[in-house]
Amino acid sequence: MISAPQQPSWPDPARLHEVVTQLAALPPLVFAGECDVLRDRLAAVARGEAFLLQGGDCAETFAGSTADDIRNKIKTLLQMAVVLTYGAQVPVVKVGRLAGQFAKPRSSDTETRDGVTLPAYRGDAVNGLAFTEQSRTPDPARLLQVYNTSAATLNLVRAFTQGGFADLREVHSWNQGFVRDNAAHQRYELMARDIDRALSFMRACGVDTEEFRTVDLYSSHEALLLDYEHALTRVDSRTGAAYDVSAHLLWIGERTRDLDGPHIAFAAGISNPLAVKLGPTTSPDEALALVDRLDPDRRPGRLTFVTRLGAGRVREVLPALVDKVTVSGAQVAWVCDPMHGNTFEAEDGRKTRRFDDVIEEVRGFFEVHRTLGTHPGGLHIELTGDDVTECLGGSGNIAELDLPMRYETACDPRLNHQQSLELAFLVAEMLASD
Ligand code: PEP
Ligand code: MN
Repeated sequence: MISAPQQPSWPDPARLHEVVTQLAALPPLVFAGECDVLRDRLAAVARGEAFLLQGGDCAETFAGSTADDIRNKIKTLLQMAVVLTYGAQVPVVKVGRLAGQFAKPRSSDTETRDGVTLPAYRGDAVNGLAFTEQSRTPDPARLLQVYNTSAATLNLVRAFTQGGFADLREVHSWNQGFVRDNAAHQRYELMARDIDRALSFMRACGVDTEEFRTVDLYSSHEALLLDYEHALTRVDSRTGAAYDVSAHLLWIGERTRDLDGPHIAFAAGISNPLAVKLGPTTSPDEALALVDRLDPDRRPGRLTFVTRLGAGRVREVLPALVDKVTVSGAQVAWVCDPMHGNTFEAEDGRKTRRFDDVIEEVRGFFEVHRTLGTHPGGLHIELTGDDVTECLGGSGNIAELDLPMRYETACDPRLNHQQSLELAFLVAEMLASD
C-alpha cells in the first residue's frame, strides 16, 4: 500500500495487493502514441494556436456509466466544441473528465450524520455513496471495476467519435433529445444551419475531408489513488519511457500538489501530458518550482496549469502567477477552471455554484491574459449532458428552491446541458474578440 495524502484506509491490505497485481497484468487503456499526439496538440494550446475544452463529471459513478449518460456527455462536449470552433474560428482540443474520474479527494476522512460517523465517500473507486457501514468501507475490488468501466466508456467514446456519430454533417442531431425550447438550443440550431451551408459549399467545391467525419476526444482524470495509477504505469516499448496508460492526460489536484509529495513525484516520472490545479493560495515561486520539477526539459505541451481561483480573486491572483512563469521562459498552457473556486453551500446544505460566478471567473481569466499578452488556453468544466438542477442561474434561471428537483451529482455540482451550451457561446464571443 502506497502511503500518501488522500489515500483510503483499505481494511485488507493483502486484498489490495492482489488487486494491484491483477491490474498490473491487464492491457493498457490508452496508447503512449496517443498521449504524445495530445501533447503536441497541447503545445499548440500553449502557443495560442488552439483552445482546450476539458469537461465531464466531478465524480463518475459506476451506475452513471450507461450508454445514454455517456452519449449525452459526449454530445454536450461535441456541441460546445463546435460552438467554440465555429464562433471563435480556432481548433479545439477535446478532453473528457471521463473514463477514469472515479476517485475524489476529501477535506475530512469521515462524515457524521445524526451522531453516526463513517468513512467519507472517496468516489466509486473506493467506496459507495450510501451512508451505511458496508457501503462506506473501502473495497479494493472497486479498482478492478474502475478499470473495466473505464475500458467500456472508452470503447463507447471511440465508437461515437470515430464511427460516424461525430461527423460534422450530424451537427443538428447532437441537439436532439435535449429540451429545445430555450435560447441556447435555438441559437445552436441557427449555427448548425450555417455550418451545414458551409459544408455543402465546400462539398460543391470538391472538398470533403476525413477531418469532417471524426473527432479526437481524449480521456483524463485526477491521478489521486497512487496504487491504481502505479499499477497502470507501463514502459513504452518504442521509447523506453514510462506512461500511465489509465488515461491520456493526468492531473494533480489542488490538495495533493505539494512539491515534495508523492503525487508530484509520481507525475514527474511519467511521460503523459500533465496538468496541475492551482488554487488561490499558490505562490508564483511554487508555480515556477512545479514547472522545474514536472517539465525540466521545457517540452511544449507537457504541462498545463489549471487555475481555479474564484470569480472574486482571479484578477488579483492570476497576473503574478502567469508573469513569473512567462518571464522564466517556460511555456505552459493556461486553462481556467471556473468551478472549484466558486462553490458554496445553499440554505439546504447542498453544494452549488452560480452560473454568473462561473462566467465572471472566465471573464477575469481572459482579461488578465489580454493585459499580459499571454494566451487564455482553455476551459476545465464540470458538466453533464442531462437537465440536472445543481448550479444556479443560466437562462433557465435555476433557483435555490429548484436544487432538489434533479440534484444527482455524487460530489460537486455540474453545469447542465443548457448551461454548458450557454457557457460555450459566451466563451466563443470572448475568444473571438481576443
Ligand atoms: C476536482 O477537479 O473535482 C477537484 C477536486 O478539484 P481541485 O483539486 O481543483 O479542488
Ligand atoms: Mn469537483
